Amino acid sequence: MSFTLHGIGVSKGIAIGKVYIVDRDQIEVSEYNLAIHLIDAEVERFENALKLAREQLQRIQSQIPKDTSQDVAAFIETHLLMLEDSLLSKAPVQLIRELQCNAEWALKLQCDSVVKIFEDMDDPYLRARKDDVEQVVIRVQRILRGYTDLPSDPTDEQLANSIILADDLSPADTIFMQHRGVLAFATEYGGATSHTAILARSLAIPAIVGLRRARPYIRQDDMLIVDGFQGVVLVDPDERTLRYYKTRQKEEKRYRASLSKIKEAPTVTLDGTPISLHTNIEFPEDMVAVRRVGGEGVGLYRTEFLFLNRQHPPDEEEHLEAYLRVIKAMRGGTVTIRTLDLGADKRFDMGSKQERPQGSNPALGLRAIRLCLRELKLFKPQLRAVLRASAMGKVRMLLPMVCGVQELVQVHNLLNEIREEFRQKSIKFDPEMPIGAMVEVPAMALCTDLFAPYIDFLSIGTNDLIQYTLAIDRVDDSVNYLYDPLHPAVLRLIKTSIDGANKLSKPISMCGEMASDSRYVRLLLGLGLRGFSVNPESYLEVKQIITTTDMGNLEKLANRMLKTSSHLDMAHLLELINAH
Ligand code: PEP
Ligand code: MG
Repeated sequence: MSFTLHGIGVSKGIAIGKVYIVDRDQIEVSEYNLAIHLIDAEVERFENALKLAREQLQRIQSQIPKDTSQDVAAFIETHLLMLEDSLLSKAPVQLIRELQCNAEWALKLQCDSVVKIFEDMDDPYLRARKDDVEQVVIRVQRILRGYTDLPSDPTDEQLANSIILADDLSPADTIFMQHRGVLAFATEYGGATSHTAILARSLAIPAIVGLRRARPYIRQDDMLIVDGFQGVVLVDPDERTLRYYKTRQKEEKRYRASLSKIKEAPTVTLDGTPISLHTNIEFPEDMVAVRRVGGEGVGLYRTEFLFLNRQHPPDEEEHLEAYLRVIKAMRGGTVTIRTLDLGADKRFDMGSKQERPQGSNPALGLRAIRLCLRELKLFKPQLRAVLRASAMGKVRMLLPMVCGVQELVQVHNLLNEIREEFRQKSIKFDPEMPIGAMVEVPAMALCTDLFAPYIDFLSIGTNDLIQYTLAIDRVDDSVNYLYDPLHPAVLRLIKTSIDGANKLSKPISMCGEMASDSRYVRLLLGLGLRGFSVNPESYLEVKQIITTTDMGNLEKLANRMLKTSSHLDMAHLLELINAH
């Protein structure tokens, strides 16, 4: 019987194939009371299980293939650290002693309470880490149950040309499944930052997560269609549906192939206006995708991801190492390194000592450049590393969430101090390295002409600009319906920023999601934007739109959008613009 299951599409594309169910059999745990003289032996049994779990993870760690994405490999490290943490290593021992119960039960109780802590967290990234806790605990429970070897992995034949379905995939699973011809991933748990999502995007295969309670309805070898665009899995599709999706898959492939033809072409409009088209990245590993689409440069490297999923902030050398990897992969193209944008939705967990209490309104609190200027211990190693990296390639430094000239002056002062020290120590750097600022708050957008003398370039971050202009928290689902890139206030601020920057001949581009959205490319060109930085997946699509655009009377039409508040009129105008 055909039916459809809905989840969250985290990697685009369509896959059609047989399912291979990865069954990590959930372990049922019972409670036993133990006689007092057996307690020490039970504690020892638990501690031996922890030791074995550690050895298993170390074995996996030593077998990680060299080309494994670093962020996926880092999850193994996280699991090892979790095993060391007293919450999982000491607290269950205390419970065994207090409740005089078996190790499995003590571990289960402790796991439930730790999972609850994660579930109650506001931050979606940290909330997703509850899956890591559960995976670590399952590993220990299996060992306590007597499965002392690694769970048996599927064979190459089972994986090749299969759609993998699992309750969740552990980092060890995802590392194992790389380059084995998997067509798609579908999991019951996990979110956009789960291991599955990260791996699928780096392999450019479709993936859907959050397919709650999917497994009872799907049998090994069932035929599936995974639609990563819509986040839908079709089980046992009928002939007509199969034909429809095969056609879509072919069209999609053809479309991708046609796009790849323009990889080498210059990015100019039909009437010869040159446009700078760069890419956004989050990890050095993303450079594989950038190279795949022929990216000319990196317009936004979100370095805060260096900070996630670890215990201590990166030092200068770690920053430098990451930057050099990107510079090397960019082969002479510009690399725009954005300094840390932590705080608000991008929190990091480095132990409670470093974690500052979030204010009542984190998006308006100590975030991005504000946090950096307060926490020089975090900021200075990064400034030093970016300056050092500038000696090795075309590097630009971009400052997030700037809203006052004073912040720029402070950064210049810090940089001057470091430059002076470098000169004295003969450490190489580019004295002309351009320094830019994000246009993310209306204060900056309205005053780009006043701020421009302090910087070399500007980059419009619409994700935040929309949030701050329309007063809507970008991570609050309940006000998501108000998040509107076409709101005339947003469009006017974009226009004002561009005009302000042009007045002082400072280059301005856009790196927010709006630039990656094919519906808005021509509108933005009409508003005067000549620089885009987009996600690697959208790169060729945006390039194709640019290269088939005639600027003609785009400007006139775009300016009409600034004076329209009716949704109907806007839709009509946008249609006219896109028909251009
Ligand atoms: C933006 O705000 O548009 C932006 C690019 O920054 P981020 O999404 O990282 O906050
Ligand atoms: Mg931003």
